[in-house]
Amino acid sequence: MNYSDIHAAIGKWYGIHGRHDLPWRQTDDPYLIYISEMMLQQTQVKTVLKRFFFPFIERFPTLQSIKEASVDDLLLAWQGLGYYRRARYIHQTAQVSAPRLPTDPAELVKLPGIGKSTAHAIAAFSTHLPVAVLDANVKRVLHRFFAEKERKEKRLWTLAEKLLDCENPYIYNQAMMDIGATVCLPKAPRCDLCPLASRCLGREKPLHYPQPARKKTRPLHHQAYLWIEKEGKILMRKREGDMLGGLWELPSVESPPPKSEKIAEIVHDYSHFRRIAEIYISADTEQIEGEWLDYGELENIAISSLERKIFKKLKQ
Ligand code: SF4
Repeated sequence: MNYSDIHAAIGKWYGIHGRHDLPWRQTDDPYLIYISEMMLQQTQVKTVLKRFFFPFIERFPTLQSIKEASVDDLLLAWQGLGYYRRARYIHQTAQVSAPRLPTDPAELVKLPGIGKSTAHAIAAFSTHLPVAVLDANVKRVLHRFFAEKERKEKRLWTLAEKLLDCENPYIYNQAMMDIGATVCLPKAPRCDLCPLASRCLGREKPLHYPQPARKKTRPLHHQAYLWIEKEGKILMRKREGDMLGGLWELPSVESPPPKSEKIAEIVHDYSHFRRIAEIYISADTEQIEGEWLDYGELENIAISSLERKIFKKLKQ
């Protein structure tokens, strides 16, 4: 099917309404585009812009600078963005790719943490390669434009490639991301302003596409943490494993030691579960392992959002 009318409308719309000022659109450096894509995977544009992108690239201006840094340094710069696995992936990618990130999608998808859409975004935005980008916003636009109810990744890739403007892939992809973010909104799509409206099959009932995902209830995980202070130092542990690996936290235990006193309870949501963190002080902490850190050192280590909540609460 020919979509040249839609491509023309999308291009015109982008010229007027596109978010041209985004810093990662002012460059063709694949490294900067890569960092922005990794940050934007789980974090909103305004948060990335306001708090994270500039300090991060000032601290790590090149892929080589990441290769030469420690994972701890990277986690510290990533602190507050969440989903810390992304920072570890970036570090691993730098080890194998520095000084320069490839721009061929087939090479990019072999790197840790780079999926097809991120690989296509890096290629499309750094070299204008005609490949489709399929982030969450673009998925919603495609679901509605093609009146596609089912949430099937493979099918969406087919539709993304079908609609792709191969002559102007850079503008098309940026525009589709912007239309998803600013026009084809999840709850209140602004169809009157949409350049796809003339041929959108889902326009009459946009909220039917895609069909709502089944709501999952987050399981509750209880965890006891110990607050152990001695001579102006606090006992901390560095986490291992995939989830939050490399971040520092208070020592956690299966159950609080005898003669413990609960001093706080913090509720913290992760993507798949809700943690109820119970904080105890205890007179019997000789067996608890960890490292004694000065309070001043806490500024220079990466801690999770839960830990920050705990420190804030206990400070109060
Ligand atoms: S016409 Fe409406 S439903 Fe269709 S893509 Fe545009 S904003 Fe979304």
